[in-house]
Amino acid sequence: MLLFQPDHLARMQRAAEADYPNECCGLIVGQIDEGGTDRIVTRIVPSPNVSTSNLRDSFEVDPKVRFDLMRELEGGDDDIIGHYHSHPDHAAEPSETDRSMVYEPDLLWVIMSVEQSRVVDTQAFRVLTDPITFSPVEIRSPSLDHSS
Ligand SMILES: [Zn+2]
Repeated sequence: MLLFQPDHLARMQRAAEADYPNECCGLIVGQIDEGGTDRIVTRIVPSPNVSTSNLRDSFEVDPKVRFDLMRELEGGDDDIIGHYHSHPDHAAEPSETDRSMVYEPDLLWVIMSVEQSRVVDTQAFRVLTDPITFSPVEIRSPSLDHSS
């Protein structure tokens, strides 16, 4: 389970909508809970998409954003636990390109589907290796919990 605060999802989704029809991307900072299965998001760090391919179907987090963030997190309780990007006019499922870009299996992937400037779906995945497979992870956020 991946637990967001409501403003985290809103910020990612606003970034995805603002960058449409290009892909947006960024890093997810948080903590792994005692049991080791749940991850609690504490911060969203947007990055410019520095991919040198077509920005409509590729993304790359700016190495400087990542480097600065890692220095800042050093020695603290928080870590980079994942990253997010958007799929303009495509489903919120990992693409073949995404599969070929799994360099760090420990990181969670959050993918947002954007249609006509609106986020219509947000999904999270963890990576299983050998062979590389994306396994769905439940997203929880107080904004998604309805008592009725
Ligand atoms: Zn993708």
